Amino acid sequence: LLKIQLERDSDFFRFLLDELARATALHDVEQKKFSETVQSLGDELCQMTATNKNDMYTWREIFKLYIEAAIFQDIDMTKDPAKESRKRLEKFKDNLLDRLLESNFVLKESKSILKHFLVINYKLIDFQHFQNLNRMAITKILKKHDKKSGLSATEEFSAFIKGNVVFVDGILLSLCQAVQTKLITIVPQPDEFTCPVCFYLAWKPVRLKCTHLFCARCLIKAKKNNITNCFICRSENAIPEATAGNLDTTLSKFMKLNFPQEIEEKERDNAAER
Ligand SMILES: [Zn+2]
Ligand SMILES: [Zn+2]
Repeated sequence: LLKIQLERDSDFFRFLLDELARATALHDVEQKKFSETVQSLGDELCQMTATNKNDMYTWREIFKLYIEAAIFQDIDMTKDPAKESRKRLEKFKDNLLDRLLESNFVLKESKSILKHFLVINYKLIDFQHFQNLNRMAITKILKKHDKKSGLSATEEFSAFIKGNVVFVDGILLSLCQAVQTKLITIVPQPDEFTCPVCFYLAWKPVRLKCTHLFCARCLIKAKKNNITNCFICRSENAIPEATAGNLDTTLSKFMKLNFPQEIEEKERDNAAER
């Protein structure tokens, strides 16, 4: 009797695995479509921010709010995750309205990109909802199976699901990552390029021999005060050994393109200090 039961059990597992594989394959197609949409929106955004600096700054504020909204992060999966994400997305939209960010746009293309960006987020919530329904259905099926057979598939199988990142949270995670790398990073935030000494944009960016980055102004001040070692790793004589060749020209160009206002402000400050 036990043998028959076990065979039935493995049939049941095979059936469930087949169903899972089918659902994942369906997701693959959708996922590819989604990634392509995000990619082309990213390309449009790239052009927009290169054409108009005003819109670039507006986009930066929008993405800053978006990151803070953490729409898909730290969600309690045992409750209704899609409901919680939708709530956070609505709050993010309210924030945009309050700050008149959309009406700040100069180019009408920016408005349409924003609309698309919101659509993408609603799509992500749909994915999340679908994923959760799948998870709940499987849990229910397994419980029923356990009750009937007296065997505990639930424990083993839920361990399998937990281990199978691709199935549970992997898809949503990878879609969120696509939004992150193909959209959000197009408009970088200046706090990612802060000088660790003055906590302001590391302009002009000087890279010491130990690869740590500071603004030229802070290094000049350090030299005057006879500080010789890197502020972060204490690499010896890293500061006096730095020459004009240590200016990170690639980053310099990147900053000019992305943070013109911050650079202007910093140069004004430097001039005032002199
Ligand atoms: Zn500095
Ligand atoms: Zn260092």
